[in-house]
Amino acid sequence: MNQIIIAIDGYSSCGKSTIAKALAQKLNYIFIDTGAMYRATTLFFLDNKINFDDDAAIHQALGNIKIHFENHNGKRITFLNDQNVEDAIRTMRVSQSVSPVATISAVRRAMVAQQQAMGKAKSVVLDGRDIGTVVFPNAELKLFITADPDIRAQRRVSELKNKGQVVNFEEVKQNLLERDHIDSSRADSPLRQATDAILIDTTHTTQEEQLNMVLELALQKIKS
Ligand code: C5P
Repeated sequence: MNQIIIAIDGYSSCGKSTIAKALAQKLNYIFIDTGAMYRATTLFFLDNKINFDDDAAIHQALGNIKIHFENHNGKRITFLNDQNVEDAIRTMRVSQSVSPVATISAVRRAMVAQQQAMGKAKSVVLDGRDIGTVVFPNAELKLFITADPDIRAQRRVSELKNKGQVVNFEEVKQNLLERDHIDSSRADSPLRQATDAILIDTTHTTQEEQLNMVLELALQKIKS
């Protein structure tokens, strides 16, 4: 049995994290939600009024940010400087600033270094935007996930409503499209399908079908 790295990239809210989490659970692998790391960094910048154009302030702030994940009753929780920020990083306030923050090269360098350290022992599933292209270009299995924007926005609205947040479909959809645009057009590590990534469209498939498909692909690699 090989221990492998599974890289899952793709557009915002197309089910990457759900697939990655379920796959990691099935394989007994570690799941790393790299989007949560960019979100936690953004929350820190917003709370500490860090100007996104101030290189010196960003450099100093990055030295004061410690992010880790814990599992609580099967739920993965993001911690920023030992504080549970799992709900705070999913708010529209953070969603609206995270893509601009993720264009900053110093931020990306800091995140990528941590992700490479977390994944180097393998047996990991990472989801993000640049995992198969930049973080682990030699990952044994690369998936690129996409879905129709209306379906993505609808799924995101349901998710946020389930968490008790008041959200508007159009606002959520615009945010997804805006993030996709910034993520795909930034100069540093733009969102791209790696040439050796397998494209998966989740528009018309259930979560169970998606999991079965990716599990099959992962097991082929692990057994080969
Ligand atoms: O995955 P999620 O939607 O939570 O990611 C939030 C944002 O973080 C993305 O829209 C993108 O701007 C940024 N991100 C990134 N690179 C990653 C993961 C996320 O730039 N590997």
